[in-house]
Amino acid sequence: MDTIENHKPHIRQYPDANGFFGKFGGSYVNEELQREMKNIENAYNTICRSQNFIHELRHIRKHFQGRPTPVYYCKNLSDLIGGARIYLKREDLNHSGAHKLNHCMGEALLAKFMGKKKLIAETGAGQHGVALATAGAYFNIKTEIHMGEVDIAKEHPNVVRMKILGADVVSVTRGTKTLKDAVDSAFEAYLADPVNTIYCIGSVVGPHPFPMMVREFQRVVGIEAREQYQEMTGELPDHVIACCGGGSNAMGILSAFIEDPVRLHIVEPMGRGEKVGDNAASVKFGTEGIIHGFNSIVIKDEKGEPAPVYSCASGLDYPAVGPEHAFLVKEKKRYEAHTVTDIECIEAFFILSRLEGIIPALESAHAVAYAIKLAKERKSESILVNLSGRGDKDIDYVEQTWGEYMKKFPNYSLLEGIDCSGINIL
Ligand SMILES: *Cc1c(COP(=O)(O)O)cnc(C)c1O
Repeated sequence: MDTIENHKPHIRQYPDANGFFGKFGGSYVNEELQREMKNIENAYNTICRSQNFIHELRHIRKHFQGRPTPVYYCKNLSDLIGGARIYLKREDLNHSGAHKLNHCMGEALLAKFMGKKKLIAETGAGQHGVALATAGAYFNIKTEIHMGEVDIAKEHPNVVRMKILGADVVSVTRGTKTLKDAVDSAFEAYLADPVNTIYCIGSVVGPHPFPMMVREFQRVVGIEAREQYQEMTGELPDHVIACCGGGSNAMGILSAFIEDPVRLHIVEPMGRGEKVGDNAASVKFGTEGIIHGFNSIVIKDEKGEPAPVYSCASGLDYPAVGPEHAFLVKEKKRYEAHTVTDIECIEAFFILSRLEGIIPALESAHAVAYAIKLAKERKSESILVNLSGRGDKDIDYVEQTWGEYMKKFPNYSLLEGIDCSGINIL
């Protein structure tokens, strides 16, 4: 149907008034929570039109977060692969080391406007917890982070960071004592007092209005990157690539290029392999279903429940994707979804560290790995990668688990067929 509606850019057209992106999204929660989601939506719709709010967020981004983050041309890596030009949007240089602070500052600013007394969230590896604790400190709002006992033991540095920043870390001892139990625990704490607290979701997931709101807070990444890239090169990139857990960094950068003649790619973790429980490639292996209050693509077990998932990058360890990604991949066919294994991710981690002096987060290394594969095939084209975070958090794990890879460079499978003899790094 050729209606005016169809000519609106995607960003203006979606989500609809009920939070749907096609058949994906919505708000599948009980009545009590539905009321609170409506309050949050109304508050968001008010402040996003307020000049004060827009000014304050701009001020925060520039002076506190250090935005705009640069776009960087990877000359060494591009020269090595031989033709294709690889650029990085440096979200690793955003304050606190990843893109997550973009939506945490927005959510906390909204909480301040709503007069909330406490921010509540769950965290798996601690990245979302640290970003929210940072926002809580900035706005002087109490912050309560729920974290599984197992993850607390595993992710000690992030637990300490949250405590230094003044957050209360609640140890969750039920069930498997990991992320899913932390979500349940945080939700209960929120439902006990939804008037004075706000649940700050960590990606473009959850019931409406969160997927829309988190996207709007992350769009700054793509708006900056598109302008910076054009300023540097006079054109648009041929490809834009982002890793995808829930999908906030991907939505942030890709949203700016949806109307452009640019190929858009999301990269999911293939982990140890294709068996259920060994990966978190939701688009590849998932089917339509409801999870955490929204309809999307979900990896399920035999009973139809969300299945356990795995990736060496804990930020990608989620059995679904945000509803807008499900829509853009499955219904609109606007993106291509790819997978990268743990091993390819680790190789890309070392390649970027050694060739460019940039240690990427393991999540972001998935996007870099796919960029390298693509660059080998598309020698005359240009590729913009969202480097969602820095890898300082991952160095102990990489040394302990993948230490032998430190010696093997440059005989990596990702670089097969590439002449690495001129590289002087080992
Ligand atoms: C959390 C995290 C991700 C994954 O989250 P998305 O919502 O999919 O962006 C990716 N990269 C880094 C560095 C993260 O901390």
